[in-house]
Amino acid sequence: MKKIGVLTSGGDAPGMNAAVRAVVRKAIFHGMEVAGIYHGYQGLINGNIENLDVGDVGDIIQRGGTMLHSARCLEFKTEEGQRKAISQLKEHGIEGLVVIGGDGSYRGALALSKLGFPSVGVPGTIDNDIPGTDYTIGFDTALNTIIESIDKIRDTATSHERSFIIEVMGRDAGDLALWAGLAGGAETILIPEVPSDIDGLVRRLEQGYERGKKHSIIIVAEGVMSAGELATLLKEKADIETRVSVLGHIQRGGSPTGRDRVLASQLGAKAVEVLMEDRGGVAIGIRNHQVVDYELSEAFNKAHKAELSMYTLSQELSI
Ligand code: ADP
Repeated sequence: MKKIGVLTSGGDAPGMNAAVRAVVRKAIFHGMEVAGIYHGYQGLINGNIENLDVGDVGDIIQRGGTMLHSARCLEFKTEEGQRKAISQLKEHGIEGLVVIGGDGSYRGALALSKLGFPSVGVPGTIDNDIPGTDYTIGFDTALNTIIESIDKIRDTATSHERSFIIEVMGRDAGDLALWAGLAGGAETILIPEVPSDIDGLVRRLEQGYERGKKHSIIIVAEGVMSAGELATLLKEKADIETRVSVLGHIQRGGSPTGRDRVLASQLGAKAVEVLMEDRGGVAIGIRNHQVVDYELSEAFNKAHKAELSMYTLSQELSI
C-alpha cells in the first residue's frame, strides 16, 4: 500500500493520540503516506481528510482526547453510507484504513472490509470491553483517574463517617468498577457480570455498622444501575443513608498513563504492519503481553469476560 488513512471513532479514550502518532510515524517510516480523517466516520463520508506528516503528530503523545476528533454517525450504519465512505477513501488515494475505537467502530471497520476495503481495528475505549484483547487503550488511565477519586472520597467519608456510592463507567462491562474497587479498597463492588445481591449488601453494611464501622465505599458499575437508584434501594429496604458520587466524564479525559502510551504505540504500529501485508478485517490486541492480530469478527462472536477471581478477592479483602 502507498497510502493509508487513520480515524478515531465513538467514545474517546486517553491514549488515542498516542495511537494516531504511532500509525502516522510507523507508516511514514516504511515509506507510506498517511491521511488523517477528522470526526470519525461522519468526517470520512464528508471528505474531511488531510495528509499528516511526522510533525503533525508531534507533541500529542501526552495529550488526552483525540486530535482527529470523534463523532457518532448514523448514516455510516447503512450500506449507502459505507459506499460513500469508500468512494471518499479512493478519491484520496487511500488503500487501507486504521480505525481506533470501541465496539461500534469495529462494526464499521468490519463493514468496510466486507465491502472490499481493508480496514483494521485498534481498541480505543476506557471500558476494556473488546473480546480478544486483554486491555484496551484508555483503560489504565481511566482506572487511575477513578482510583484518585475514590481516595479523595474516602477522606471525606472517613471524616464524616458516611457511606458513599460511587458510580463508574464501563457500559456493559464491569472491569473499571472491579479493578478500581479492588485498588481503592472498596467494601462492595457491583458489576454486571455478577448478579447483584442487594439483601446481601444490606446485611454486610449492617454487620459493619454493628461492629462500629462507620463508613463504607460502594462502587457500582453503570451497567448495573445508577448510584442514585442504589441509594434509593438501600434507603427503602433498610433505611441506610448513603451519599452518591457519579464520576462521569472526568473518567474519559486526562493525560494517558505510561502503560496506555506504550500500549497505544505498540497496537498502532501493529495495525500498520497488518495493512502493509495487504490484510484487512483484522483487529489488533494484546494477550499475555504479546501484541496479536485476529479476525475482526472474533471481537463480536465472543462475550467479554471480567476477571471474576478479582471479584472474589475483593470480597475476601473487604471483610
Ligand atoms: P464505540 O466505537 O465507542 O463503541 P459507537 O458504538 O457509538 O462507539 O460507534 C461509533 C460509530 O461506529 C457509530 O457512530 C457508527 O458510525 C459506527 N457503527 C456502529 N455500529 C455500526 C454497525 N453495526 N455498522 C456500521 N457502523 C457502525
